[in-house]
Amino acid sequence: MNKSILISSTEKKRIMKFNTKTIHGGQQPDKAYGAVMPPIYQTSTFAQRSPGEHQGYEYARSKNPTRTALENALASLENGNYGLAFGSGLAAIDAVLKLLKSGDEVIATNDLYGGSYRLFTKVFEDFGIKFHFVNMEKATNIEAYITKNTKLIWIETPTNPMMNIIDIEAVSVVAKAHNLLLAVDNTFATPYLQRPLDVGADIVMHSVTKYIGGHSDLVMGALVVNDKELADKLYFIQNASGAICGPMDCFLALRGIKTLHVRMQRHCENGKAIAEYLANHPKISKVYWPGFETHPNHDIAKKQMDDFGGMISFVTNGNDYHQAIKIIENLKIFTLAESLGGVESLAGHPASMTHASIPKEEREKTGIVDALIRLSVGIEDVDDLIADLEQALSA
Ligand SMILES: *Cc1c(COP(=O)(O)O)cnc(C)c1O
Repeated sequence: MNKSILISSTEKKRIMKFNTKTIHGGQQPDKAYGAVMPPIYQTSTFAQRSPGEHQGYEYARSKNPTRTALENALASLENGNYGLAFGSGLAAIDAVLKLLKSGDEVIATNDLYGGSYRLFTKVFEDFGIKFHFVNMEKATNIEAYITKNTKLIWIETPTNPMMNIIDIEAVSVVAKAHNLLLAVDNTFATPYLQRPLDVGADIVMHSVTKYIGGHSDLVMGALVVNDKELADKLYFIQNASGAICGPMDCFLALRGIKTLHVRMQRHCENGKAIAEYLANHPKISKVYWPGFETHPNHDIAKKQMDDFGGMISFVTNGNDYHQAIKIIENLKIFTLAESLGGVESLAGHPASMTHASIPKEEREKTGIVDALIRLSVGIEDVDDLIADLEQALSA
């Protein structure tokens, strides 16, 4: 086979920029026939010549070549050494928590994806793991919660749906000083905007369902790490617990990744235009988007992100629940739906949808009021998106 197409993945990692990595990072033409896209290995098992004598694959829960191709691509995007793909974002988080034992403690961002909060408090607390939910806008806030049992810090930035920004590097300094693992849910930013492993995180987690998949056609999760020992432990859990994703979904995610950079660039452009439009609208009292200089963590966002993304939350004047619901119902191009990060624009109502599993008092402490609307700005023509918001707000 032509030597140039067998260039090693470490070599590619060194020489490629991000926009090339989405297309070539960790990826090679298939070894059997040179297929440019990895084939969908729709098989549960692999023939062995003699017991234990196989070609690297035995049983598809343990490893599948389509999944391997995706895991290598994900590792490359995050500048990591090892990628692991799971059946959903929550399955990936579940695998990280299974590194812990009863009695261990976790310090997590207070403004967290509702499903993560539910998994922590409704599943893992029952196994004797203790969670502290902390405002981490100042990394030093974490220190007061560290005990001899603390093992893991879990952060999300930008946070969902309040768009707070946490300084990953500053938190990693605290984590390292106390020998704690630092995991970052990078779903909102994607590696196009920030690469947490480069600034000291140990684990990057993704809901691949969102921007990485990018087309609202699959549910999947992923972890990326640098450390071999940590990767081995997570691989053990991935295989032992078995929350893996199928080869067809891996293929779709790989196809999504090919355009991640182009999509993200447009998500950011459209997001900026819409954030500015909303901020100037007389019926709107508050817009949450980290690109504004007035955003409380704008400086950190500027330091750790390459752009500001297409996720925006806002509240209308008077903070009226019924008015917010009316606006969402009136939208025509924005679809009312859970999820985010697809090519199409979505609108959501966190208090009754994504964050309904968080008690009202807890929700409101972080700003998730009943009138809050969250937008995932897609890559349609921005004029049409603004016209849609205009008609919904004036109806
Ligand atoms: C959606 C989401 C998750 C959970 O991922 P699933 O793929 O739905 O299981 C976790 N974190 C964030 C920030 C999310 O948006």
